[in-house]
Amino acid sequence: MTGVPADWMPRAAMRRIHVHWTAGRHAPNATDQRAYHILVCGDGSLRRGNTSIEANAPGSGLRPAAHTLNANTGAIGVALCCMFRARESPFDAGPDPLTEAQWQAAIAAIAQLAHRYAIPVTPRTILTHAEVGPNLNIPQRNKWDITRLPFDPDCQGAQAVGDKLRRAVAARLDGMSGTVEDLPSDPALKLPRFRVSGVAPSRLNFRRAPDGERAGALPEGTRVERLAVVGDWWQVRTPAGYVGWVWSSYLTAV
Ligand SMILES: [Zn+2]
Repeated sequence: MTGVPADWMPRAAMRRIHVHWTAGRHAPNATDQRAYHILVCGDGSLRRGNTSIEANAPGSGLRPAAHTLNANTGAIGVALCCMFRARESPFDAGPDPLTEAQWQAAIAAIAQLAHRYAIPVTPRTILTHAEVGPNLNIPQRNKWDITRLPFDPDCQGAQAVGDKLRRAVAARLDGMSGTVEDLPSDPALKLPRFRVSGVAPSRLNFRRAPDGERAGALPEGTRVERLAVVGDWWQVRTPAGYVGWVWSSYLTAV
């Protein structure tokens, strides 16, 4: 697994990542290659779709990859190649089920994309196709990707699968702290902002994971943007672009 090659992620103002399955075989066909930017095969290997991510950026003037009804602008389409002839009820994953290797590879790729494009891990910014209707209020036609994980039958439904996806992506992002490259700003995307409050004269521990290894410390008054929430631990980005986790009690909204 080498991840998403840098040249598959051109500079662009992207707002969201939509995660699909193709309802096809474990490898993409020509239709799949047209519809999505990045495809994850049954063995976890990645294929690039025919359309570059930048074609879906707002105002690109290019023909976008049409992966989501009325919601393609600003949206990266990632598809897991699987679920050919699958049936929703009674559930039957068919001959090409979504595999655990594929799910793990997709999470790694989505974390890379989220990092590259500074997309926060929230239900409105990193979501499955099945969540587009409820979370963005943009109705889709009976899309049930991804409401089932054949390797984890206890996890069912759009919200449960979406939450599992986001927890895993947020955990992967911990290993990616560092300066975020300057990207074209998207005025539609406003991250909640906070400042460190109530720790002086000490500093607030800045960790690689919720309750994890200490990576540094933030002085009183530091302004941060919130990227993700896991219980009382928040993932934040500092003005210098460092990403890490802090205890939320010492952050005040600004
Ligand atoms: Zn879909």
